[in-house]
Amino acid sequence: MDFELPEQHRILRQTVRDFCEREVRPKAREWDREERFPQEIVPKLAELGLLGIRIPEEYGGSAMDMLAYAIVVEECARVDGSLALTVASHNGLGTGHVLSFGTAAQKQKYLSKATSGEWLGAWALTEPGSGSDSAGMQTTAVRDGDDWVINGTKMFITQGSVGGFTVVLARTNKDVKAQRGITAFIVEQTTPGYAASKKLEKYGCRSSDTVELTLENVRVADSQRLGEVDHGFYDTMSILDCGRISIAAMALGLGRGALDMAVRYAKERSQFGRPIADFQAIQWMLADARTKLDAAELLIHRAADLADRGEPFTQQASMAKLFASEVATQVCNDSLQIHGGYGYTREFDIERHLRDAKICEIGEGTSQVQRIVIAKHLLA
Ligand SMILES: Cc1cc2nc3c(=O)[nH]c(=O)nc-3n(C[C@H](O)[C@H](O)[C@H](O)COP(=O)(O)OP(=O)(O)OC[C@H]3O[C@@H](n4cnc5c(N)ncnc54)[C@H](O)[C@@H]3O)c2cc1C
Repeated sequence: MDFELPEQHRILRQTVRDFCEREVRPKAREWDREERFPQEIVPKLAELGLLGIRIPEEYGGSAMDMLAYAIVVEECARVDGSLALTVASHNGLGTGHVLSFGTAAQKQKYLSKATSGEWLGAWALTEPGSGSDSAGMQTTAVRDGDDWVINGTKMFITQGSVGGFTVVLARTNKDVKAQRGITAFIVEQTTPGYAASKKLEKYGCRSSDTVELTLENVRVADSQRLGEVDHGFYDTMSILDCGRISIAAMALGLGRGALDMAVRYAKERSQFGRPIADFQAIQWMLADARTKLDAAELLIHRAADLADRGEPFTQQASMAKLFASEVATQVCNDSLQIHGGYGYTREFDIERHLRDAKICEIGEGTSQVQRIVIAKHLLA
């Protein structure tokens, strides 16, 4: 449904689609089975400008907008949810936080390395005891002269072991309301005390790197502090608004990929002497899928457009993520149903899409949390 896209975005979509068909589709199933992060794809992503989509050209970025970010993530997800998660979290969370709140020196160092593919960015908010209630974190950063000393455990951190730097959120003030005492720090992954203590085995997105992190007396200079002291939680909320558009786009791409597979299979597979595409029961699943995916796209593009025009978009980003992620799971599930028993085997990609899609209902705020955000705006 490209009719309203500016030419620059149409070209971008086609370029990323061609790249994914050529470089990713032939390998995605193997990467998933091996549960291996494909480091070899990183320089190619950098060459295409996909590791600095919204980063200014002076740091080697592509200087594009939120709509472009959504389109890139959608196209990656059509073929591979894991790759989409890598691209989404690197651009939106790790580098996004530096782009929005970093000093000139921090941007020069970290964004340049990020766009060149030398370092992927990770972002560590979640902890074993605090997920949806992210302000309830226990990780602390204590001032020691010109340094800060960070201690704690972070959970489910994407690129936590394969990135170059991680933006870590830590409590810096225990005497105020939880949200008012959190600060962000850029921690290079080679810093003593930073350890990926456990690689997590997952249901889906298996070739995306997800780890538990242990931070033990991690010492960083104050120049590594990102944003104002005690203001990190509020900054984080604005980073998540952008991130939610990208997770919605990831869901859309997974759903679109699943629908393509369903249409192809329904035309090829015959039962009772006719292609199964002739049966109304199959046609209705396809029609519902197409309709809901297009509706999801409209919600995503509205949220991206608001963001690009500098308007508030928190509620719209939550609506896009909530709807797109639930639609993606339904569409992948129906596509697997259309594939019958073959869809349940690993010979076809649809089972991987269904597994990958589920994360969109959980990461960067569960569907329940999105409903809370939407209702809060509605009732304000
Ligand atoms: C593959 C993967 C990658 C991830 N990447 C990152 C990353 O890079 N960085 C990072 O910081 N985090 C990351 N996360 C963490 C992710 O954001 C959290 O898993 C998510 O926010 C939910 O937190 P939780 O898992 O602790 O669930 P919980 O918060 O414990 O929620 C459990 C259930 O309770 C529900 N619930 C909780 N509170 C409420 C409420 N008030 N009302 C109604 N229902 C509620 C939830 O919706 C959910 O159904 C990742 C997670 C995964 C699985």
